[in-house]
Amino acid sequence: MSWRETLGVTSSTEPPYTHNSQNTQKPAETGNCADSADSAYRDSKEETSKLLEALADACRGLDITPAEVKEALAAEDIEDWRKGAISVDTLAAFARALVQRRVMDQGKRPGHYTEQATCKHCGPIWLWFSGEVLGCPWCWNRVADKPIPRPSSVHCGDCIHFERIQSPHRHPHLGHCAKGEPEAIAGLWDTDRRYCERFLPRPQQTNNDQPRPARAETKM
Ligand code: SF4
Ligand SMILES: [Zn+2]
Repeated sequence: MSWRETLGVTSSTEPPYTHNSQNTQKPAETGNCADSADSAYRDSKEETSKLLEALADACRGLDITPAEVKEALAAEDIEDWRKGAISVDTLAAFARALVQRRVMDQGKRPGHYTEQATCKHCGPIWLWFSGEVLGCPWCWNRVADKPIPRPSSVHCGDCIHFERIQSPHRHPHLGHCAKGEPEAIAGLWDTDRRYCERFLPRPQQTNNDQPRPARAETKM
């Protein structure tokens, strides 16, 4: 994931940041190949050390090291930094986003996600605002098959992992969890409410098993 994806940035609007602008105008060096290779190596070491210095500022007060942030930067991110297209503020925002991402990867809610919302693909989620969304930061968890903490309970019957018992005949209510979540010997009752970090909503148009109640209005 590049810094743009992590921060949700689609195009750069930042002015060039001239932390190392002296390097951008550096004239081509002359000399033999060994000298050039040696000089390139020194430049690269110097540049890495400058980047780590900038990242040390960006990581101040955060539970992440400059080396870990550097590791998360894509080659094109580092190239952007080299060209002065990424400011210290952006690096700091990237470092904060990485820390937050780690928390979320563990299925934990970031402290400022205090509102209940609904993602079309993830179901009930915690966000920093309430309402309905077509995609959300928890979608990364969904795609990576990681748990999503829930602000409310759900019905198994509304979940894509609910497999209704079909034999010897289709049961009107009982089914099993394809994700192996704990269930009674007889199975899960589709209308029972439960807290589940593995719940994923069935696409509405294919959920014909039960009549659905009218959806409550929520603000955006
Ligand atoms: S994942 Fe959770 S909500 Fe979905 S069927 Fe299994 S137990 Fe029920
Ligand atoms: Zn989502």
